[in-house]
Amino acid sequence: MNDSTNDPLLDYRALRAEDPDVYGLIAREAERQKNGLELIASENYASPAVMQAMASVLTNKYSEGYPGKRYYGGNEVIDDVESLAVARARKLFGAEHVNVQPLSGSPANLAVYMALLQPGDKVLGFSLDQGGHLSHGHPLNFSGKLYTIIPYFVNKESELIDMDEVEAIAVREKPKMILAGFSAYSRSLDWRRFRAIADKVGAFLFADIAHIAGLVAGKQLENPVPICDVVSTTTHKTLRGPRGAIIMCKEKFASAIDRAVFPGVQGGPHDHITAAKAVAFGEALRPEFRTYAAQVIRNAAALAAALGERGYRVVSGGTENHLMLVDVFGSKQITGKEAEKALEQAGISINKNMIPFDTRKPLDPSGIRLGTAAIATRGCRETDMAAVAGFIDEALMERLDAARLAAIREKVAAFAGSFPVPGIG
Ligand SMILES: *Cc1c(COP(=O)(O)O)cnc(C)c1O
Repeated sequence: MNDSTNDPLLDYRALRAEDPDVYGLIAREAERQKNGLELIASENYASPAVMQAMASVLTNKYSEGYPGKRYYGGNEVIDDVESLAVARARKLFGAEHVNVQPLSGSPANLAVYMALLQPGDKVLGFSLDQGGHLSHGHPLNFSGKLYTIIPYFVNKESELIDMDEVEAIAVREKPKMILAGFSAYSRSLDWRRFRAIADKVGAFLFADIAHIAGLVAGKQLENPVPICDVVSTTTHKTLRGPRGAIIMCKEKFASAIDRAVFPGVQGGPHDHITAAKAVAFGEALRPEFRTYAAQVIRNAAALAAALGERGYRVVSGGTENHLMLVDVFGSKQITGKEAEKALEQAGISINKNMIPFDTRKPLDPSGIRLGTAAIATRGCRETDMAAVAGFIDEALMERLDAARLAAIREKVAAFAGSFPVPGIG
């Protein structure tokens, strides 16, 4: 980590002098990020500009409320920061209304449920063990505790979401809201069909694009914002901004959404993060971001193909976005937990994941989930994916040999070292 006086990026001198413990931990994490291959599908590298906005005096301010309607004085600059973030997000996604205050994806979703539903109302959501998110109805999450969640599934043969079944369930259950979105599904969603089904049964249509927002912003996937009533997204995954979230909606839901965020769920917004969101939206509005989003998808397709050539079964046969599920147990009799551990020892970060209709348990499932958003930010291209698949395969084959895994880790570090991490080098 660079901390010299002419540091073009972040200046860490004060932190190092005052708190060498925390400085040391951050430096260690920077090394880890630099030497490893980051294939966790929900992760990315924020730019130095995004990080500098986060590390700013804006963190000092309280600004409960919205621009022009605050409960504290001294918000004339913060009002401009928030208005800028809103204007850029509206332009990026073609949204009628945007709330940029949600602290993260889960609280954003809590606000959406609060705005549109009463406790106990029925929600149709993608089954969690097939790719949905905790906030789409996990029994220990607010969503599963407060609302009646009816799951929909993928087709057992195609492993694609079965839209005819979604329609049949919606007609039978008459949900108040249909939730379309995922954390582990490698295919595009049919937003228009979801809209038609929601209209047929009189349900709100809520899209959670936490994973794919950057691919939508980069114009590589269809934008659900004009089609859905409400759309939430995190800002730190493919969108490559600070850790946080936003909610977009049609004008008629604007005041309900705003009231649900504040005072419904949150107190003061994190204004330094709002500024960093504005920076990230500014970056995503540039033509280079389209190139980036296209590269992410090409890398994912190439990685899925390269793993397929090595005998790994990719769920649904491939990917149309940045992520894929690989059935390591079905292909190679390696459990997801074993695979995660071996790859970690080899310097490759992924996560174990259930595959659809998994016969194994969540803590040691049949699959792993991989994504290419982070490595594309480092400059990896589709031609690099054969090497990445090679490292993965080698580590999985040598999973019981700690010395071999350590040797692979060296090779991975050398490979990763040729692709700079923003802000670290
Ligand atoms: C990551 C994710 C979230 C939640 O994000 P946090 O910021 O971790 O709370 C919500 N929905 C989906 C679909 C996600 O993938």
